Amino acid sequence: MSDQEAMLFPEIKYTKIFINNEWHDSVSGKTFPTINPCTGEKICDVQEGDKADIDKAVKAARDAFALDAPWRTMDASQRGNLMVKLCELMERDKVYLASLETLDNGKPYLDSLGDLQMTIDCIKYYAGYADKIHGKTIPMDGDFFSYTKLHPVGVCGQIIPWNYPLMMVAWKWGPALACGNTIIMKPAEQTPLTALYCAALSVEAGFPPGVINIVPGYGPTAGAALAEHMDVDKIAFTGSTEVGQLVMMAAAKSNMKRVTFEMGGKSPNIIFDDADLDEAVTWAHAAIMNNHGQNCCAGSRTYVQEGIYDEFVKRSAKMAAERVVGDPYDKKTQQGPQVDQEMFDKVMKYCNIGKEEGATCQAGGERWGNVGYFVKPTVFSDVTDDMRIAREEIFGPVQTILKFKTLEEVIEKANSSKYGLAAGVHTRDINKAFTVAQSLQAGSMWVNCYDCISSQTPFGGFKQSGHGRELGEEGLKEYYEVKTVTIKVPKKIS
Ligand code: NAD
Repeated sequence: MSDQEAMLFPEIKYTKIFINNEWHDSVSGKTFPTINPCTGEKICDVQEGDKADIDKAVKAARDAFALDAPWRTMDASQRGNLMVKLCELMERDKVYLASLETLDNGKPYLDSLGDLQMTIDCIKYYAGYADKIHGKTIPMDGDFFSYTKLHPVGVCGQIIPWNYPLMMVAWKWGPALACGNTIIMKPAEQTPLTALYCAALSVEAGFPPGVINIVPGYGPTAGAALAEHMDVDKIAFTGSTEVGQLVMMAAAKSNMKRVTFEMGGKSPNIIFDDADLDEAVTWAHAAIMNNHGQNCCAGSRTYVQEGIYDEFVKRSAKMAAERVVGDPYDKKTQQGPQVDQEMFDKVMKYCNIGKEEGATCQAGGERWGNVGYFVKPTVFSDVTDDMRIAREEIFGPVQTILKFKTLEEVIEKANSSKYGLAAGVHTRDINKAFTVAQSLQAGSMWVNCYDCISSQTPFGGFKQSGHGRELGEEGLKEYYEVKTVTIKVPKKIS
């Protein structure tokens, strides 16, 4: 079977809670369904973890972090080797993993394959760091010798969303494992299947029991239990800003565990009159439509300068109308269903709000087909900054196009948001590009491109879009503590 050919009905192999390299039923005996978003039908039932299961997983992760445990006494290079082995197994099973991702999430199969490649790249990138996490020797005043040792933080809780289930595994596991931490991951209830399969691969790769644990379940139960647990040292969360606030409060009220957050966005993408119009229309379309708009850094406010506004809107509407929606296993498909009924309802609600607020619906604005959670790619023009569709995160394939006149005006408007995850600017004028890039409050800033993310470059949000960074060397820093060791010496020798 070539990489290009999906498995239409991937066998579901793992549906239980993964603790200590073993599969467990939930303590409560409860299960929950995971749904195929193309049809609204159940794929399978998954064991539903909650507080009691989180307690078991935390105990396993704590034991695996004991000073004499295999994970703590292992050479750092060997940690990296295990991570590389995991990547090789993901590569071996890529058709299966990508097919399973598409089944559970609804994204086009070729997109799942792309996500899986980025997943592998990310874990490999951090595998290379495992034996290069160096401290320093420091010329401290007095008769002392001082060095820093970078310590794993310890037991790490990781709560992830459903929009990039495989990639989120890599973004969270990669830096955590490279630094020598142990993990309890709670995948999103909508998409638990690929993370569970990765857990099985981690056993095959040779990770010791308890290093990686996965507890599928719901947010207010399993997720909250992890966030408030007294024996969890760090929590890394990706999801909505609202839930991020709850997690931050739980962390503060329990044991002040370390926290990192990747949250929502309403990212501006600015197109100046002098931009290459074809390029800019295409980038701006992809910026919002990719992954069905279910993208934290989606370019969901397209600001277009007045001289090209009408032509830009016309071309964007045409592109949206021509976007191929449908069966995600069909290689021609660019857009599958939204992930679940709740997200479908939310996107449809915002389409109606846009119309009621007086924006002009140039394309889409309604359901696609009559089965599953498909939405037509939608374009609104005549959008103003006060409209809800320009301020609130829709998380769907809905492009809102706003008009601006001057550089100063668009910088102010772009920054006028509680979010600050990402931004784009399209212009042939380097001075304009530089001024915008210097002025915008955004963790990622793309010039004449959009959404260009790599394992090597840090990613995260200003303002209410996040705390801390993932990816790159910055992402690693979130998973170690700096310990200063100072030794009294008989006499300083410089
Ligand atoms: P969500 O916040 O509802 O859920 C995210 C995760 O948190 C899930 O695993 C969920 O079960 C868990 N959760 C829910 N309630 C919880 C609680 N009380 N305590 C602990 N955990 C809890 O978000 P979602 O609907 O799954 O995802 C969409 C949102 O996530 C969007 O707003 C999007 O912008 C954001 N997001 C951000 C990024 C990023 O990198 N910044 C990436 C993906 C998604």
